[in-house]
Amino acid sequence: RAKAAGKSGFVVFDEAMHQEALSRLQLETDFRLALERGEFRIHYQPIVDLGSGRLVGAEALVRWCHPLRGLLVPADFLAVAEETGLIVEMDAWVLKEACRQLAVWRNRFPDWPELTVNVNVDEKQMVSAGIVEEVFSLLQRHGLPPASLRLEVTETAFRTGRAQAEQRLLALKALGVGLVVDDFGTGYSSLESFAASPFDALKMDQVFIRDIASNPRHRAIVRTIAGFARELGLAMTAEGIETGEQRVIAAELGCQYGQGYLFARPLPAQEFEQLLLGDARILG
Ligand code: C2E
Ligand code: MG
Ligand code: MG
Ligand code: MG
Repeated sequence: RAKAAGKSGFVVFDEAMHQEALSRLQLETDFRLALERGEFRIHYQPIVDLGSGRLVGAEALVRWCHPLRGLLVPADFLAVAEETGLIVEMDAWVLKEACRQLAVWRNRFPDWPELTVNVNVDEKQMVSAGIVEEVFSLLQRHGLPPASLRLEVTETAFRTGRAQAEQRLLALKALGVGLVVDDFGTGYSSLESFAASPFDALKMDQVFIRDIASNPRHRAIVRTIAGFARELGLAMTAEGIETGEQRVIAAELGCQYGQGYLFARPLPAQEFEQLLLGDARILG
């Protein structure tokens, strides 16, 4: 939308573009402040055993309580976080807070010894120098069983610095934490990279689940990947389950775990805690 201003060759921005640049700059400034002011929150979305509907854990999903714009979701700010590199700091906070919260829950609810929390790790954080030590010290500090923490990485973590990412994954695996491939099926990595890497689980991207009832190709892909996962000894989770029909089909095709609005939306910590407290351990 930039247009050349006559012969001078100067480029002027139109008003909309100007506004866009300004609000982006504002967002970036606000984001830096948000880290200092502690404006981030975590919502916890239940993950269930698809067969029984039994709650097995949660995925930690970051939210930003913006002082003027209200509660923001990652789509509103993740691009800025990534481009500025501030995502590493944000992710470090999420990891720390999720571990603290998990330890509180595990202590408060001893009848949930199997409770796990999944944390998303951006590729920049995965290759950052301190990630392994950071995870190790958090597990120690909170006395968490390593397997109660599960780190989700997308296929893009392999795009740049694959060797480094793989080295980190192996070190994290050696600590005993769970490693999950997020949004499986939408990236560009080779199957070989998964066969060789120390993952425990795959999360099938929502795009395959959304139209699973009407799209035989997506059913074929889910069935095939579920078989692939089984052969490699990986657990498989279906993301974005919104209907009972999607749930039944995903289970039939071989997905063991599921996550989606059918079971629950991402919940503030106190609301998720109600699930641990109550008898509502079967969802969906
Ligand atoms: P993701 O890791 O694939 O997380 C699943 C997303 O799907 C979440 O969106 C969740 O709210 C949404 N979702 C769950 N069930 C359903 C459903 O039934 N229908 C639909 N339409 N959506 C569903 P959310 O919370 O907006 O997060 C979006 C993405 O942002 C995440 O995708 C993840 O890639 C990223 N993200 C979230 N939290 C963090 C974080 O702490 N660090 C980093 N680096 N990335 C994060
Ligand atoms: Mg995820
Ligand atoms: Mg995902
Ligand atoms: Mg996603």
